[in-house]
Amino acid sequence: MEKKEMICIVCPVGCHMEVVKNGKTEEGYEVSGNQCLRGKVYGIKEMRNPTRVLTSTVKITEGKLPRLPVTTKGAIPKELIMEAMKVINQVEVKAPVKVGKVIIKNLLDTGVDVVATRSMDKDSRCQSQKVS
Ligand code: SF4
Repeated sequence: MEKKEMICIVCPVGCHMEVVKNGKTEEGYEVSGNQCLRGKVYGIKEMRNPTRVLTSTVKITEGKLPRLPVTTKGAIPKELIMEAMKVINQVEVKAPVKVGKVIIKNLLDTGVDVVATRSMDKDSRCQSQKVS
């Protein structure tokens, strides 16, 4: 019998749940320990196709900071997280960047883009170097 214990991450309560594959129920899984329906939906999704929103940073040149924070615009399959990090770690962008700018289009053919979560101006020292 397929069975998994997990903590629901949908809200800060963090219910300890148990999800058991069970052909008797309509959804095919029996969820216990959840305090609300959202936990049940999360538990079943974790069994069928676990996904995560991935947040990270990419290298940025001529910016005020050396790294630009980014996030996937939606959840991607959990099994692709390591490969996605390899792709993100190879990316280098150039300042200035506006928040929401697509940094990686269609990450690993998931249909999900990686976008900047903040704007980053050009470092004024870079601008002054060009003038002089
Ligand atoms: S089951 Fe409901 S109450 Fe419990 S952590 Fe999940 S969302 Fe929160």
